Amino acid sequence: EKEEQKKLVNEPSISADGYQVELAANIGTPDDMEGVIENGAEGVGLYRTEFLYMGRDSVPEEEEQFEAYRTVVENMDGKPVVIRTLDIGGDKELPYLDLPEELNPFLGFRAIRLCLEKTDLFRTQLRALLRASHYGNLKIMFPMVATLEELRNAKALVQEEKERLKEEGKPVNDELEIGIMVEIPSTAVAAPQFAKEVDFFSIGTNDLVQYTLAADRMSEHVSHLYQPYHPAVLQLIKNVIDASHAEGKWTGMCGEMAGERTAIPLLLGLGLDEFSMSATSVLAARSTLREIQLNTAQDLASRALTCSTSEEVETMVRNHL
Ligand code: PEP
Ligand code: MG
Repeated sequence: EKEEQKKLVNEPSISADGYQVELAANIGTPDDMEGVIENGAEGVGLYRTEFLYMGRDSVPEEEEQFEAYRTVVENMDGKPVVIRTLDIGGDKELPYLDLPEELNPFLGFRAIRLCLEKTDLFRTQLRALLRASHYGNLKIMFPMVATLEELRNAKALVQEEKERLKEEGKPVNDELEIGIMVEIPSTAVAAPQFAKEVDFFSIGTNDLVQYTLAADRMSEHVSHLYQPYHPAVLQLIKNVIDASHAEGKWTGMCGEMAGERTAIPLLLGLGLDEFSMSATSVLAARSTLREIQLNTAQDLASRALTCSTSEEVETMVRNHL
């Protein structure tokens, strides 16, 4: 089976009836690029930049970040690379940042919330990203956005740094897309409003499921409540995809769900445009995709949305495969 899948490395990511989507990879460092290319990913759907900041005792400087981002976009040779700005806090901490101790770190000072307060830190990263945008198809993505104000404030900082770089005579891609992760239910519900002000969405199911069912993604005690196939989660996913399409934008998914064999027909049927997963899952996903008819997937998705429980959805999807 692995050998069969290897043959798909240069094949398009299309359904059995020729409907095309993008299969992308999640990465943590530029060293992951080899696997991305070997496995035939058509883009990077999530570059988790926090690893650049971890395991050291000071903030990485602009130049070091710029080199890392440039390496990744140049390796992709014009194919899309979605780079997520710093998603620290929650369970991931940085000793040199002096973050507050909180009772509920996952509901606390993390990701975009922290970046909008520590703007020096954020501006440095934005400058490195903007400079790297000149070397390929780089897109900026903000994590854990809960409100439109956060998006607007983050975009304003990007704009300011863009102007500043231009004044310094440094080249920046003016067309660079800016998107957000949808991993908080408020944002999934308000997707129609967000869709007017972003270029794309990427659904982060790892967190979206956790917040929708109020079930800690790390806790064994409530793992039975951590249900990616819960009809409420599917409804949120559909809401986000529909909202983006209504504005002529696109939606990807970079949570674990995007690479699951059982989820692919469902997500295809819901209209997902880009699936981002670990590089080692890309060929299997492409193989699954190529066996699905789009209209059957759409039918499956609409039936799934009428289910009452996660179990009903899972049974339906398994039978479909
Ligand atoms: C997610 O929440 O689905 C996601 C991709 O982000 P992370 O796993 O890094 O929180
Ligand atoms: Mg997340």
